[in-house]
Amino acid sequence: MHYLSTRGGVEPVSFSQAVMMGLATDGGLLLPTSFPQVDQTTLKRWTGLPFEELAVEVMLPYVGDDMTRAELAALVQRSYAGFNHPEITPLVEVGELRILELFHGPTAAFKDVALQLLGNLFEFLLERSGGHLNILGATSGDTGSAAIYGVRGQERIDIFILHPHGRVSPIQERQMTTVLDENVHNIAIRGTFDDGQRIVKELFNDLEFKRMYHLGAVNSINWARILAQVVYYFYAWGRVTGGDTGRKVTFSVPTGNFGDIFAGYVATRMGLPVEKLVLATNRNDILSRFVNTGVYQARSVHHTTSPSMDIQLASNFERYLYFLMDEQPEELQQLMDRMAREGRIEIPEEKRAEVRRLFQAVSVSEQETMNQIRETYQRGRYILDPHTAVGVRAAREIPGAVCLATAHPAKFGEAVKQAIGVEAAPPPSLQGLMEKETRCALLDAESTAVKGFMKETLKRQGV
Ligand SMILES: *Cc1c(COP(=O)(O)O)cnc(C)c1O
Repeated sequence: MHYLSTRGGVEPVSFSQAVMMGLATDGGLLLPTSFPQVDQTTLKRWTGLPFEELAVEVMLPYVGDDMTRAELAALVQRSYAGFNHPEITPLVEVGELRILELFHGPTAAFKDVALQLLGNLFEFLLERSGGHLNILGATSGDTGSAAIYGVRGQERIDIFILHPHGRVSPIQERQMTTVLDENVHNIAIRGTFDDGQRIVKELFNDLEFKRMYHLGAVNSINWARILAQVVYYFYAWGRVTGGDTGRKVTFSVPTGNFGDIFAGYVATRMGLPVEKLVLATNRNDILSRFVNTGVYQARSVHHTTSPSMDIQLASNFERYLYFLMDEQPEELQQLMDRMAREGRIEIPEEKRAEVRRLFQAVSVSEQETMNQIRETYQRGRYILDPHTAVGVRAAREIPGAVCLATAHPAKFGEAVKQAIGVEAAPPPSLQGLMEKETRCALLDAESTAVKGFMKETLKRQGV
């Protein structure tokens, strides 16, 4: 299996090269040259497999010759051993609702499903090549902690995560700063999340620094993150249908960067019987406007109670556009150029019809989100987090839809309390955080300060 860039400027690379490259070197996103096809017999055979075994079946063709089945199986086992549910991603029924709980990992959000695997993949590939990687990233909350938990304790990786001092929720801050492993370096900067992103960008553009210090990224554009998420679509389909290949399932997906829902698209392309993918956004509705009007155009970002979806330009969307443009890199490049120049693109009517054949998009207001949390609680005593509530609300006209639950409700206690007057009981991973010891550096929001800190830290560790 080989991977190409959406922009056409990269020679075919292997799975491991794609994982280490992250963003394609021509600025595009990496995609497999084809999707392995899953026939009906195979679908039946996969139904009922434990999550970890299914993960190996789904991922192995994408890995190609880069790992043996046994190596991949061991890596998958290790990645999901820290989940606190035996089914990893259980499907629960609450009255009429079907909820796919993706939040049983160490940081109580769905990003663990992908980042636990990615951390182990990095370590595996670095062991083989004898290298060392310094991961650098900025976070406004969720991604930072999931990335830290993905690589904590790994010998060949150091991770530096910037967060805006005093501007992430206390739980999110503690989730990051209570990780005391030697390879984890939290940096609070005296500034905003945008300052953090600017600093990271500046350091990645400092090519000499980047090369000397082997900087790597963990953003959601890494192909391995998408791949890990494809697995639970197959898993949920099997649970709902019992392997009846005549039955199609609709999934409702709370969407920000178009990563999770793109994984659903990949599953569909592989042959999973999917009726519709419901693309659920909060007030930040660029993606739902695209599905409904064919126009892709950013507006300013609104802060909502589902902050992990407060995104305008979705970094993974280019992958889907590439397929919509019939896999023509020149056409895609033209679209992306126009987007950069004019801030707006529009696709023709026949393409719009194609989009709507699979996707159905709904933008959900803050009020509707709150109402949904309340209604689901009153009906079934089940507490939704605000992100999940957006997806549940978006699918309310579609009985039987599988709603992806992307965060544990205890992670967003304030919004939940506002809706129903009580907070959800925290899972073990969120308990006792406020009493634990912490470690974190406090720096000015300047790239020179962060660069100096990184050099000093790595020197002290003898890296
Ligand atoms: C990241 C995140 C999302 C959005 O996922 P995308 O893959 O970016 O679309 C939704 N909910 C939660 C809780 C998240 O952390």
